[in-house]
Amino acid sequence: MSKRLVMKFGGTSVGTAAAMRQAAKIAVDARRSWDEVVVVTSALSGVTDGLLNSARQAARGDLGAFEQTRQEMYERHHALADSLAAPAERPALHGEINNLVAEFSNLCQAINVLGEASPRALDAVAALGERLSVRVLAAAISAAGAPARWVESTRLICTDSRFQNAAPDADETRRRSQAVLLPLLEKGHIPVVTGFIGADAGGRTTTLGRGGSDYSASILAVALDAQEVWIWTDVDGVMTADPRLVGGARTIRELSFREVAEMAHYGAKVLHPKSIAPVIQAGICLRVLNTFNPAGEGTRLVSEREANGHGTIKALAAIRGLRLVTLSGTGMLGVPGVAGRIFSAAATTGISVPLIIESTSEQAICFPAPKEKIEEVLESLYTHLGAEFQRGDIDRAAVSEDVDIITVISPGLRSTVGIAGQIFSTLAAQNINVLGISFGASDVSINLLVHAETTRAALQALHTLI
Ligand code: ADP
Ligand code: ASP
Ligand code: MG
Repeated sequence: MSKRLVMKFGGTSVGTAAAMRQAAKIAVDARRSWDEVVVVTSALSGVTDGLLNSARQAARGDLGAFEQTRQEMYERHHALADSLAAPAERPALHGEINNLVAEFSNLCQAINVLGEASPRALDAVAALGERLSVRVLAAAISAAGAPARWVESTRLICTDSRFQNAAPDADETRRRSQAVLLPLLEKGHIPVVTGFIGADAGGRTTTLGRGGSDYSASILAVALDAQEVWIWTDVDGVMTADPRLVGGARTIRELSFREVAEMAHYGAKVLHPKSIAPVIQAGICLRVLNTFNPAGEGTRLVSEREANGHGTIKALAAIRGLRLVTLSGTGMLGVPGVAGRIFSAAATTGISVPLIIESTSEQAICFPAPKEKIEEVLESLYTHLGAEFQRGDIDRAAVSEDVDIITVISPGLRSTVGIAGQIFSTLAAQNINVLGISFGASDVSINLLVHAETTRAALQALHTLI
């Protein structure tokens, strides 16, 4: 069987002409050592945010953001086309860009008239970023020396109809991906596929959730029986902490799938949390590499057996922008089903609760939620637990100041004496108060809740333990 590689470029890796030129060179160079290469790309950096913001504001009757995003999208993509596509390709490419920008205008006008941006409409708008970037990147790769063809993944990735957070159907995706991509690969072409998006059974465009292009790459790698997936980003692989928050963060050469899954789940944006499981199950090798330092080794994900570092602290992650919701009342604890109803109510708002604290003595259940969702969460709690509030079983729903969750990744944590002690004394030495912890559910991580204003200092202090 031929050696097949799937590589994915993130938004910054295609965000400027210099970056996209570099990405194209990486794809062309990979063809020297791989028989077949499939490229997946994100939208240019900032474009998805601009698109979603425009649609939401249009629904509120304000077309200001739309005008600005449309102008920027138009200028950035045309400029890339002019500097990277072969002259003969440019007129067709400019036409494609104009058509997609016009589609954006039509969608925003419609949203503005309706006064509502449904999840389905938001997906149709958000998808435009990747639909634009594939066209330009395919032209750039062709101009750099390897024939490339853009493909929209609405033809490949079949999902359910949960707009904004769709889940793929593996069997149908495999059938479609092979039917569309294998003929291109056999001809020696590099397919350049939109990340982030799919389509439901009715052919309506869906998205896999923010940051979902990593997930697209692993879905396609599994569907195509690829040997490896390379995630090209703007840092030297998975690092000991987010380099934007912690000075001195270093690249981790090897991490187990479980360690990286825990990091991704607890806020390390470098890999989408859902991108990991499909490749582990299929035994596909995953690497994270830096587009701007392609000779660097980056990070390789390995099986649990091969991973080292047992009993040490390997990395830190953080989820920011949270507030704690505390429900308290004498009739709440020990009553079957109350916790279940609380978390079902929270789940209806689309949040996933990263950690739960229960206090028997204070008769309280407490959980963090993204601060922009707090109002919605409270509303849902009052609706779904109306009877409990009315009877006085729950007498209070309180919301805290801003908090963050810091996650410490340390394999073999449960069986290593003293690590938790080290963590707490390091924080105490900096006078950092820990508001809550969750520990024991995973053998590779411990989660700490801290006041948002202490997060940077806490991360920096804990980083000295790595
Ligand atoms: P892309 O657009 O390539 O998908 P993202 O912005 O989604 O890139 O993810 C890369 C960013 O993730 C980095 O620039 C870095 O700031 C952030 N990040 C957070 N935690 C980590 C970590 N532990 N290691 C590396 N990068 C991290
Ligand atoms: N462009 C999408 C986003 O910004 C997907 C991605 O970049 O992975 O969320
Ligand atoms: Mg990303």
